[in-house]
This record gives sequence, C-alpha cells and structure tokens, in this order.
Amino acid sequence: MRPNSAHQALTRLERWQRARSGDFRLVTQNIDTLHEQAGSEALIKVHGSADRVRCPRPGCENGAPRGSIARSAVDFAPFLALPSLEALPRCPLCGEILRPHVLFFDEYYDEHGDYRFAEVRSLAGSAEMAIFAGTSFSVGVTDLLVEAVAARGKPMFSIDPHADPPRVRVPLTPIREPAETLLPRVGEILERG
Ligand SMILES: [Zn+2]
Repeated sequence: MRPNSAHQALTRLERWQRARSGDFRLVTQNIDTLHEQAGSEALIKVHGSADRVRCPRPGCENGAPRGSIARSAVDFAPFLALPSLEALPRCPLCGEILRPHVLFFDEYYDEHGDYRFAEVRSLAGSAEMAIFAGTSFSVGVTDLLVEAVAARGKPMFSIDPHADPPRVRVPLTPIREPAETLLPRVGEILERG
C-alpha cells in the first residue's frame, strides 16, 4: 500500500501550518505506516503501530509501559513456514510470545506510552480547531476530542462521505466528501494564500 492523496494533503497541511508558526497534530487511528511514508512528523499513533511488536509480560522491558521491538527485527520465518503456537516469535529477554504493538478492543489508551494519550488529552483541552477525516466516531479517542473541543466552543469539521458525526453542543459540521479529494483542495487554497 502507498500513501494516498489524503495522507499527502495532511502532510502539506502540517507544513503549511508550521510555516506560519502554528501548531498542528495529526492523531491517527490507523496502525499502518502510510502517514509516515507521506512525510507526517507531528503524528500521534493513538492505536499503536503494525510495524512493531511487544512483550505482554508485565515488567518486561520489551513491553508496556514503554518498550516495543521493530517487527523487522523479529524473525517471523519459522511461523510463516509452518504456522503453530510454538513457532510464534518470542521476546528475546524473557521468552514470552510477542504480541502486536496495537491497541486491542478491550484495552486502555494509557496502557502504553507510545499511544501518547496524555498528549491527546492535552490537545483536546487546547486545540483551536479539530478536523476529523474518515472516522466513524466509534472509538474512545474521538469521543474524548469531540466532547472536549465542543465544551470549549471551538469549530469542528468531519470530512467523510458517510460519517454521521455525534450531536454535540457546538455543531460538528459534516462535509460529505472523501478526504482524498477534499483535503488536497484545501491544501491548494491555503498555499495560494
Ligand atoms: Zn519479555
């Protein structure tokens, strides 16, 4: 998979905003690495990252709250050749079977420092504007952002052809267009000044 025009437009938006000394943060629910490939730097991968694994054993340095290992540093060949529980890659420190470095449905955002949830909470309390792109508003992080930004009366937009944004005190304006076409147009207009 390659970054699409929405990933690229978000990078342009970040650069445009930084060039005028503004603050910008991209909080993504995606666990792929397409935002990084597109050049995003102010990126918070709040649901983790598919290119890393970690140890599930409490207290192990390769696991929560800070540790993880690059997936590329782990040998998956034996498992891929003959999938079995025994062939799964194990933690080099303690021998526990490694797990994906992503947030599972029954887990909490504050379980690992890499999710940077404290920073997201702080953004929710300080952002002057929130733009949601391609989200179904069905996860905890969107609930938090929508409620906190609305409580401060700041503008919010949802870019998605199908999304049904939650009703909150301050209108969350739906823009029913794909982010892949809308965001590049926004970028062009902003860069033109
Ligand atoms: Zn371990």
